[in-house]
Amino acid sequence: MDIHDKQRKAVSLISGGLDSLLATKAMLEQGIHVEGINFFTGFCVEGHTHAIRKKDKAKPKRNNALWVAEQLGIKLHIIDIVDEYKDVVINPKHGYGANLNPCLDCKIFMVNKAKQWMMENDFDFMITGEVIGQRPMSQRKETMPIIANESGADDLLLRPLCAKNLPATKPELENWIDREKLYGFSGRSRKPQIALANHWGFDEYAQPAGGCCFLTDPNYSDKLKDLWQNRGDKYYELDDIMLLKTGRHLRPKKNFKLIIAREEGETRFMEGYKNKFIWLKTASCAGPLTLMDGNDISADDIELAARITARYSQGRDEECVTIATGTRSKAFTEFDIKPMLANEIQALWYL
Ligand code: SF4
Repeated sequence: MDIHDKQRKAVSLISGGLDSLLATKAMLEQGIHVEGINFFTGFCVEGHTHAIRKKDKAKPKRNNALWVAEQLGIKLHIIDIVDEYKDVVINPKHGYGANLNPCLDCKIFMVNKAKQWMMENDFDFMITGEVIGQRPMSQRKETMPIIANESGADDLLLRPLCAKNLPATKPELENWIDREKLYGFSGRSRKPQIALANHWGFDEYAQPAGGCCFLTDPNYSDKLKDLWQNRGDKYYELDDIMLLKTGRHLRPKKNFKLIIAREEGETRFMEGYKNKFIWLKTASCAGPLTLMDGNDISADDIELAARITARYSQGRDEECVTIATGTRSKAFTEFDIKPMLANEIQALWYL
């Protein structure tokens, strides 16, 4: 298409969902060389809870971004942005969506990172799978120019699935691609995307959920708010946000919360965090691993945590359950405890 016959190159933001798959395919169809970028923020939904929980065992454990790249036959660059992304979550200039999802700032940040990558790697333009009106916060007609301008991508950012509803970008104006072969999708309906997927023979793809990360999940957002409130600081480490995806979270007292594994897979996952927390585990019967996250934890606090852990064990109806407890620095110890009663546990604060 390019009148100068130069092989044009585009970088595509690949989330692993259907839209980025189709947007990328639309460019490949026009003879563009495309490589994908997938950003790892720590909040990504895929490949975590599905991978460790038995109840999700029917769900594929693949990384959908890699899977999409493989379907399309393109190279994928997975880039860790955990540290830089913290400022987006903690101080979003455009605010949060319905939960702690800073979608507009997130998009601006990711497009800006992709632009940097594009310049460093001598690519010509970038694409996203955005569709006007698809998502309430970040994919509205008014937000499309905000993302392009504030990210610095300007007219090098092309959205192949809704391009016909937007002003022409440089790749279109310079005839690197044919605008006529782009799309004019808009609104929340997924039908045009599904029809296009069928047209190109994609019969399997990740189903779009509420969003591409845990920040759109109200329960997850509540747990993150609780973490910030109780630390007195809007800060987090990767371990914190990974553990917010795992286990049952309870705050029996202001100075500590408990993370109680809900099943074997979570217990095994949480074993890896025992060196960072006081931990408890039933020794006389099968039961969950519990981690205590807090400050100034007293012997009474450990006793309370032990009673709760016993309540979630198979010995919940026994007179006494033996609990093993330890920390990285303190000696391992075992003691017997009466499991908490059903009415007592109901009164606790679940996150
Ligand atoms: S859902 Fe999460 S990853 Fe997706 S745009 Fe919003 S904040 Fe970013």
